[in-house]
Order: sequence, then C-alpha cells, then structure tokens
Amino acid sequence: MKTIGIIGGGQLGLMIAEQARLLGVRTVCLDPATDAPAGAVCDDHIVGRFDDPEAVEELCRRSDVVTYEFENVPGEILIPLCGKYNIPQGYRPLYDSQDRLREKSNARDHGLRTPRFAAVDDMASLRAAVAEIGLPAVLKTRTLGYDGHGQQVLRTEEDLRKAEPLLAVPCILEEFVPFDFEASIVMVSDGERVVSFPIGRNVHRDGILDLCFVPAEVDGAVLARMKSESERFMRDCGYRGILAIEYFVRQGEIYFNEMAPRPHNSGHYTIEGATTNQFRELVRYLVGMPLEEPRLVAPTVMKNILGQDLEEARKVAAEHRPGVYVHLYGKSESRPKRKMGHITFVGMQAGEYERDWAARFV
Ligand code: AMP
Repeated sequence: MKTIGIIGGGQLGLMIAEQARLLGVRTVCLDPATDAPAGAVCDDHIVGRFDDPEAVEELCRRSDVVTYEFENVPGEILIPLCGKYNIPQGYRPLYDSQDRLREKSNARDHGLRTPRFAAVDDMASLRAAVAEIGLPAVLKTRTLGYDGHGQQVLRTEEDLRKAEPLLAVPCILEEFVPFDFEASIVMVSDGERVVSFPIGRNVHRDGILDLCFVPAEVDGAVLARMKSESERFMRDCGYRGILAIEYFVRQGEIYFNEMAPRPHNSGHYTIEGATTNQFRELVRYLVGMPLEEPRLVAPTVMKNILGQDLEEARKVAAEHRPGVYVHLYGKSESRPKRKMGHITFVGMQAGEYERDWAARFV
C-alpha cells in the first residue's frame, strides 16, 4: 500500500486524505496543529512546522510520494528534499506562484493575458505605477496575500496616502478589471495528458470565495478558450500534478488573476458534482494511476461556509435533503470569515439557489 505525505493538514489535506482512502492509499500529513482537520482522517499526523527541515524530511521518509496543500512551503526546505525524495510536482510551481509579480510575469511570458501591472516598493514607485496604469487600481503585497488579505483598491489620491502601510513590504500595482464575472479552472497533468474540470463562475464576498456556479452560464466559446489556453499554459510550464487558475472575464476577454498548484476551493463541487473529483485525480496522479477525464453530473452550486454561516449549515445538514451535501471540516475554532466547510447542491442552477437558499446565509 502506498503512502502519500501531505505538507499541510487543513481542509484540502483532509479531502485529499478522504479520496486517498477510497483508492486504498495511505496518507500522512504534517501540520503544527494537533487538531488539524486532516489529522482526523490521515493514517498518521506529524505535528511539526512547515519551516522545520527535520519535520519535513521526516514526512518524506515516511511517504512514497509527497505533495503540498498550500503555497507557502519555503524553497530552502523543499528544494534540497526534491533531489532526495519523490516530490513529483517539485518546487517550480510553488516558486512561480509565491510572489504575485513573478506569477503574473510568468503567466504573461507563457502567453496568458494579465491585467497591466507594475512592481511597487515605495511611495515614489507607487506614484509612477499609478501614472502608467491609472486609477482605479489594486495594490497588493507581493507575497503571503490570500483571500483579499494584503490588498487595497485605490480610487483617489487620498487612497494612495491611506495605502502607505501596505508599502512596508514589496507590492504590485494592478489595473482594476471591472470584470463581468470571475471563473476558475482546475487541471491535473501527468506530464503527458492534462485533464480539466468543468469551469465554474465564482462569486467572492470580502475577497473570499462565496459561491461557485457550474457550469458557468456564459458564452461557450469563452469557456473553450479558457480551457485550451489553461491546458497549453500548464504544458508549456512543464507543471505536473494539480494546478488551478483564476481568471477575470470581461467582454469576452479573459485575464489571468492567480494560480495555485494545489486543490482549489472552487473545485470542491467536483466531489459530488462531477464523475471524478480534483482530490481523487491528484491522488491518482501521485500514485501513478491513469487520469480520468471528468464530466459534470448535473448543474451544481457550491456555497462556502464561513464562521458566520456555521449554525445555518448545521441546520441544512440536519434536513437531509437529496442532492444537498454538507461538508464540515471539524475545525475546533470558528471565526467569522474562517472557512469552516462548504455545501454542494447537485442538480441546482443559480436562479434556484438565489430564490430558495441565498436568504439563509447572510
Ligand atoms: P486575489 O487575492 O488576487 O485573488 O484577489 C481577491 C479578489 O479581489 C479577487 O477574487 C477579485 O474579486 C478582487 N480583485 C483582485 N484583483 C483585482 C483586479 N486587478 N481587478 C478587479 N478586482 C480584483
């Protein structure tokens, strides 16, 4: 029986472990929290920090193959281990995605359209970037930003002054794209074949993914282009394993926003909404099983459950409605804006969700 080592023990690790078990594969995760969500499902849990080389090497020793469930694994730790152990996704996709400036340059260099952007290090370079890109624009920290943290929309001269604290670390200024909608694609590649999951339309609230409607109810030609450009990008970059790309779509034009070389929140719907799911295909890749081409089972809606939605989600779970799947990640502490779970509604379209369900989550 093979063992997959997972750097990280959050909800993504939990769902990788659940799918691994169904395929007869063992898992061990590394996470500093004794009550990490994945710890409850993995066969083994090493309690240790991601920046502790000893702990990461111990994970490698106990595994046949190693993956990661979050982007910020330090290169100093992973690079030396890549030569010694089986870490088939390698450090490259992490390196390319850990810094927003590098990430956007890499996307542009490989033929994807991005919002216009410029590096910003201080007030003078911010002013120069605004002169070039114009307002409104979005100022983001280059590293460690997620879910809308470490970013500010600049609309006025006053906003520039207010943004000064962000400039304590290197930043990037991006053109503000008044998108019609956001969409994302999740792909898995074995180095030869790339399979991709049906594209959803994403709705964010406060910078955090709130809802995902699949299939995205938009021009099929736009979705076909997003699929073919994304798959070509993944091949051209030589990435293996799993990759998610988020886009803005505006008047038929698609703009790369960001990528993540791990399972993605917008792909959670695939567990029940598709014939195979993002976690399962990642596991299949890692243990050398042939990839399966996913198909949508029925129109599906995914609703994220943040701390403030948890009570209502428990009520929904207790109703046991057909086609409604409530996932709670077992996190011990619930906070507003913390991802606590998600609900998948299979056989539902956006209109029905808005009519019958939206008001339950405020
Ligand atoms: P990010 O962390 O870069 O994915 O940003 C979080 C959310 O902020 C995105 O999902 C968008 O809703 C919004 N956002 C980020 N960058 C831009 C941009 N350049 N133009 C318009 N909206 C943006």
